[in-house]
Amino acid sequence: MKMAILLAAIAPLLLVNCKKQDPMATQSTPPEQPEAKVELTNAEWKEKLTPEQYRILREAGTEAANGEVYHEFKEQGTGSYFCAGCDTKLFSSNEKFDSKCGWPSFYDPADAQNIVTDTDFDLGYARTEVRCKNCDGHLGHVFLGEGFNTPTDKRYCINGTVLKFVPDSVDKE
Ligand SMILES: [Zn+2]
Repeated sequence: MKMAILLAAIAPLLLVNCKKQDPMATQSTPPEQPEAKVELTNAEWKEKLTPEQYRILREAGTEAANGEVYHEFKEQGTGSYFCAGCDTKLFSSNEKFDSKCGWPSFYDPADAQNIVTDTDFDLGYARTEVRCKNCDGHLGHVFLGEGFNTPTDKRYCINGTVLKFVPDSVDKE
């Protein structure tokens, strides 16, 4: 009981701080969905994002494999994943699977219309880049036909640093 009161008291403070938090922000309620494309200047993105989020979302960077964010991801329960740049809902734990690749993996987006894909040749061969439709932020890549035992045999290999996790409500009194 005391713990519940304490959590209720500090929750708003945590929410304020999570904007700048690495590696993966978590909040208790789903963010409001953007109604239009989110277009900011580089300076505004730098203000809004952590340096690591900026490097990934705006400069197509990649987080370290098997890092803290990956371990955190593996331990998360059911919930939804939102874009750290613009709050758009991108993935759900329903399509999460353990690919053992070192990055958060999903076999499908939660809302396919919120994702755009594009082929890049950054490493000298074709890879399909995955971006957020609303802020055009780089999320990761999607790989096909790797033989995973999932309904799609696709692996959306996503940087967890640029996701916001909202666990499903556990209000069971
Ligand atoms: Zn976004």
